[in-house]
Amino acid sequence: MNAMATSGPRVLLRRLHDVMAGPGDVQSRLDQIVRAIAANMVAEVCSVYFMREDVLELVATEGLNPEAVHKTTLNMGEGLVGLIAQQARAVALSDAQSHPNFAYRPETGEEVYHSLMGVPILRAGRVIGVLVVQNRTMRDYADEEVEAMQTIAMVLAEMADAALRPTADAPAPAPAADLPFRMSGLTLNEGLARGVIVPHEPLVVVEHHVAQNIEVEKRRMDQGLDELRLQIDGLLSTATPGGEPTEILQTYRMFANDRGWITRLYEAVETGLTAEAAVERVQVDTRARMSQVTDAFLRERLHDLEDLANRLLRHLTGRVVTAAFETLPEDAIIVARNMGPAELLEYDRSRLRALLLEEGTPASHVAIVARALQIPVIGLLDGLLDRIGPGDTVLVDADNGQVFVRPGDDVRHAFEQNLSLRAAQEAEYASHREEPAVTRDGTRVRLNINAGLLVDLPQLDETGADGIGLYRTELHFMVRASLPNITTQAEFYGRVLTQANGRPVVFRTLDVGGDKVLPYLRRYDDENPAMGWRAIRLALDRPVLLRMQLRALIKAAAGHELNVMFPMIAEVAEFAAAKALLDLEVARWSRLDEPSPSRIRVGTMLEVPSLAWQLPALLPMVDFVSIGSNDLMQFLFASDRGNPRLSGRYDVLSPAALSFLRDVVRRCDAAGVAVSLCGEAAGHPVEAMALIGLGLRDISMTPAAVGRVRVMIQSLDLPPLRQFMTTLYDSPSRSVRDRLLAFAEEKGVAI
Ligand code: PEP
Ligand code: MG
Repeated sequence: MNAMATSGPRVLLRRLHDVMAGPGDVQSRLDQIVRAIAANMVAEVCSVYFMREDVLELVATEGLNPEAVHKTTLNMGEGLVGLIAQQARAVALSDAQSHPNFAYRPETGEEVYHSLMGVPILRAGRVIGVLVVQNRTMRDYADEEVEAMQTIAMVLAEMADAALRPTADAPAPAPAADLPFRMSGLTLNEGLARGVIVPHEPLVVVEHHVAQNIEVEKRRMDQGLDELRLQIDGLLSTATPGGEPTEILQTYRMFANDRGWITRLYEAVETGLTAEAAVERVQVDTRARMSQVTDAFLRERLHDLEDLANRLLRHLTGRVVTAAFETLPEDAIIVARNMGPAELLEYDRSRLRALLLEEGTPASHVAIVARALQIPVIGLLDGLLDRIGPGDTVLVDADNGQVFVRPGDDVRHAFEQNLSLRAAQEAEYASHREEPAVTRDGTRVRLNINAGLLVDLPQLDETGADGIGLYRTELHFMVRASLPNITTQAEFYGRVLTQANGRPVVFRTLDVGGDKVLPYLRRYDDENPAMGWRAIRLALDRPVLLRMQLRALIKAAAGHELNVMFPMIAEVAEFAAAKALLDLEVARWSRLDEPSPSRIRVGTMLEVPSLAWQLPALLPMVDFVSIGSNDLMQFLFASDRGNPRLSGRYDVLSPAALSFLRDVVRRCDAAGVAVSLCGEAAGHPVEAMALIGLGLRDISMTPAAVGRVRVMIQSLDLPPLRQFMTTLYDSPSRSVRDRLLAFAEEKGVAI
């Protein structure tokens, strides 16, 4: 019989609530609870495990040997119970013993039970235990039963603290609170910072799970949702129209009115939960879904939904104010499990020094926005929140993905020296901002920035760059929930051009596909996304998107010079096809009698090696070539640019890469076609020196690098470098980096 489906969890929840609020010590109440669950679920066994010092301890059971209570323990990942805890996911098996994870514990006497269903017990998103039922028969547990168990597990979480409170004969271990420690994560944006920990939002811990009156809870939910919508509208009214914050908030507003989400919330209330417990319940489902979603874009959307759920929780518990709205300390280092981009934008930038995330990946929206705001970010700091507290001092070395919490004097001292050195350097770079980048022998090099969001644009003035060498238009598409129409796109590109104030901007058409997924494009699972159906391949197969974008660019550039280039061109025919679409749009525009761009220049990225062997056919067709060294390196060396195990394995300062680049630059020069380079390599002084040595006079980089590269150029005498570099191209070494560094040192080049 499907017990829960017929009686619903409401009756059981009320019973659990009465037991929890009733008389008796914790153990006797837990014992009553497992009995009640077993009876309600028609299960022979019901057991509760709670986490104590990183192991799962059996704390109560109905059906297993009572002697095993407080004796049987399992590690994370050990046995089915450990697996449920590790994956934070429910497991339902009609034949548990044949599962590879089944770990038989003789003291429990569980060998006679065949089926098993277990769910994690979560508190504020963390696994703190496991609730399990077992049956002798091979029982198929229904989905509703699993869901009911998840609801019960939430209520049980309230008992955890009391159940695990140390007894007199087992005193609590001394807290490790003030010991220094170091943690490594993944660099999401480089930089150094020192400051004090501000947890992003003291997590809202739901205190009351069982509803006294369901109608009252529904009304509270109505009110909470209304307040949430008002709050988002309020944020929207203060955000600058057209910028990314507005778009992100519009997505939030859409979610806040999402029928599916709202229905699930009210359904959870119907099962007998309070409004806030219902939000938590739906959040548990969202997280479970999130852990299974591999699609980067969908994961981001689910994170945004989680952010929204947290906001709703705060309304329901009356804790509307997050750290973002309180006065931050002068040097705040925000720590969060994860964060939506809108949440980051709520913080006072002038006091925000760095962001540390327990999750967070390079493609996450918060990372994209943080990079644009130049905030150092480290992600994948698993378990950090458990080990820190508000006000702890912390040093962030995001260049190396390192966090030093409560550092000792020696670490602090070394770090501070590093920081002040860095600050002095930055001040020095800034003082040269107005100067052109000219070598000692008088060669002018154009320094441009790479950009992709409106918040990047002030960097043009701050760095004194010559222009934008690469405008990654896809970022604008990625932070939106729906395809921007031509008018919206044109407004956006128009703002970019206005803010560039006459400095050239090279717009790269959409480089999407692979892992840069847009929700409004159907997704295809490419086995090798970097080499898959992406960028120009997708654009030529679905030309509407590219034509819309080109039309918007032409419209936006009325009276300006328009520079357009296409990504991932592998053969001349692809460039010709893309250019034909541009020509069509230009012809169409001219028939409309609307103001046109003053000039249109069209170019290509060179990031797929095959194109280098088609230059005689290509060069007569293009106005410029922009070398994308990031993708070029990965395809030249067959080495995934996102794989941390390969990072640093192949060097752009290798004879192979340098010869390749030299040949491309020479041929472009000979044909009189402008050539530049816009990959990461251009932003590192020694790499930039070599690029200039092999002939490049135009490079584009992350804005943070412009100052140091300018200073390097101003200290460089080009003829000796060119001469020196002729000795490198045929070297048998895997890298000539050391030799270039030695040259710089000997000649006094500021590297
Ligand atoms: C490149 O590949 O070098 C490049 C500049 O483009 P992206 O990093 O956007 O792929
Ligand atoms: Mg690229």
